[in-house]
Amino acid sequence: MSSEPLVRVEHLSVSYGDRVALEDVSLSLGAGEVVSLVGPNGAGKSTLLKTIARLVRPNSGTVEFSDALGADPRRRVVYVPQRDHIDWTLPASVRDLVLMGAYGSASRWRRTSRDTTADAERALDVVGMRQHSATQIGRLSGGQQQRVILARALIRPSSVYLLDEPFSGVDAPTEAIFEEVIEDLRAGGAAVLLATHNLDCARDTSTRVCMLSRKVVALGTPDEALTPLNIAVAYGDISRLHIHGEAAHAHD
Ligand code: ADP
Ligand code: MG
Repeated sequence: MSSEPLVRVEHLSVSYGDRVALEDVSLSLGAGEVVSLVGPNGAGKSTLLKTIARLVRPNSGTVEFSDALGADPRRRVVYVPQRDHIDWTLPASVRDLVLMGAYGSASRWRRTSRDTTADAERALDVVGMRQHSATQIGRLSGGQQQRVILARALIRPSSVYLLDEPFSGVDAPTEAIFEEVIEDLRAGGAAVLLATHNLDCARDTSTRVCMLSRKVVALGTPDEALTPLNIAVAYGDISRLHIHGEAAHAHD
């Protein structure tokens, strides 16, 4: 890992109205790192990715980018949303979707003049979807949708990739392709921050794992972070055990 992080998140807190999504989250991301964000539904994984992508404004705390990433906020990171945040009923081809740009919000789908059909086909080739480039996006299976989303991220080289649930709903061969693509990005010196429900994928793909449950429960190597205790704390089993213990005690 290089000495200076590419992205530095410090003491970040984010609320939607009075619902606290993130509380005092700190995390830095270095070149050549893959960090998996794991945690239950509602843990704040998507909120953290969106806040780094500047799509959500924090209540407090900071997100800082290395000067090496340049001044244009939209060019500093590639962000791809969760599959269910994309409107798959739009009358667009696979190629169109890939060309609609990988950064910014899903609603800010602007085709940029710099991206060409050849760029889109190259990105689709990486994920094994080139033969589907003229297919309407409404006809894709869930796994194919995920491949196209990943192609969107690959259309333009970047230093920081924020991927929301890339493994959700993909089959084993697709998972293997994705792991390879992510490893290639990492080996090329990029930083990848991905949210996933799949602890096995987190273990296999990551240099570090950040376990979230509104706050950071654990942050370290996969072995350090993915302990049974941390998983129980993040996924809420501890409180159930506790209630159980009290009930048992009451029967004594
Ligand atoms: P995750 O991706 O880990 O499932 P999210 O970041 O989507 O978690 O959500 C974190 C919390 O913030 C949840 O309680 C969720 O209901 C809430 N939340 C997320 N987005 C919004 C929103 N646009 N408006 C209100 N609450 C939201
Ligand atoms: Mg999410």
